[in-house]
Amino acid sequence: MIPYGRQEITEADIEAVVTVLKSDFLTQGPMVPRFEQAVATHVGARHALAVNSATSALHIACLALGLGEGDWLWTTPVTFVASANCGLYCGAQVDFVDIDPVTYNLCPVALQAKLEVAEREGRLPKVVVAVHLCGQPCDMAAIHALGQRYGFRIIEDASHAIGGKYKGDYVGSGAFSDITVFSFHPVKIITTAEGGMALTNDDELAQRMALLRSHGITRDAELMTQAPDGLWYYQQVDLGFNYRMTELQAALGVSQMERLDQFVARRHQLARRYDELLRGLPLLTPWQHPDSYSGLHLYVIRLRLDQIQASHRQVFESLREQGIGVNLHYIPVHTQPYYQQMGFKAGDFPQAEQYYAEAISLPMFQTMTDVQQDDVVAAVNKAVKTVKAAGA
Ligand SMILES: *Cc1c(COP(=O)(O)O)cnc(C)c1O
Repeated sequence: MIPYGRQEITEADIEAVVTVLKSDFLTQGPMVPRFEQAVATHVGARHALAVNSATSALHIACLALGLGEGDWLWTTPVTFVASANCGLYCGAQVDFVDIDPVTYNLCPVALQAKLEVAEREGRLPKVVVAVHLCGQPCDMAAIHALGQRYGFRIIEDASHAIGGKYKGDYVGSGAFSDITVFSFHPVKIITTAEGGMALTNDDELAQRMALLRSHGITRDAELMTQAPDGLWYYQQVDLGFNYRMTELQAALGVSQMERLDQFVARRHQLARRYDELLRGLPLLTPWQHPDSYSGLHLYVIRLRLDQIQASHRQVFESLREQGIGVNLHYIPVHTQPYYQQMGFKAGDFPQAEQYYAEAISLPMFQTMTDVQQDDVVAAVNKAVKTVKAAGA
């Protein structure tokens, strides 16, 4: 089976992790700050906080922005559940904004329309989570302008987009948001096994997130309510968590960061090749905004079901039967049973649901060979042309 995503681990990566294993610190040593520095410098952010997952990063980002009971968090329905769950963790309520049918990202026009209604009803969001689906940055300038007008804060869920650029700057540089979050799960662009990071240019947000990732405990006398009792002294000044990243993970992250640009460049090569090889088939290849350079975590095709005899499900199953580990990103969050209990229902976000009825993620990872890609393309050709005969 050719997987839809896969990590690349080199001897240098392995050596970096083994070196940490033989060192004094398995956690809370020098590698985590080194990894944070490497990412912050690369993308051009002032602060970076490494944590044990992007989910944790989203949680402490929401808390740092003051999200709590009585507040609203808005995001796109076409995302991993974590982009929405972070609001619920904080006791806030979650709502969604439908996607743009061309970019598949949260649609700024739909956002504006929903904000106008929310303003009249006095339930404007405190936080909007903009998810860069597949790695393609959202229309951040438009979302940021709406944030200024309606007073909400912005988190970029850039779990798919490290190494990507928006208007010439790396995603994470933060010109149009308060906090950016990366994921280092093995299917993502670089990996630390599990892991995530929150980046910000705001000193206060960085300080709050640093406290929240480690129990709300500080050893910084300036943050304490009294002078330290002695050298052993620490204070808990907030209610935090243990969301720390280990030294092993950070060492892997530092090593992987050296190849980030190379990884994304290879993904672009593969995407261009898919674009060419799939031309003429009854499907849509991903549209790329001229202002952006995608991180290309995913390569999603949309079937033109009016031109295909088979159903979406049949095409998907045919691909799996042919050994292609296709996937579907994502089941719209508002259709999950947990969200339906809150009152969301099918039909609420028609563009998202239409996308879900047609989308398939083809394999996309930096170590995929041209030969493997040719196999994927041959399988797609077969799947969109012959499924009906096979199933009839
Ligand atoms: C993977 C992913 C997450 C969660 O990342 P973890 O590091 O696994 O917690 C959040 N949002 C999006 C869009 C993702 O793809």
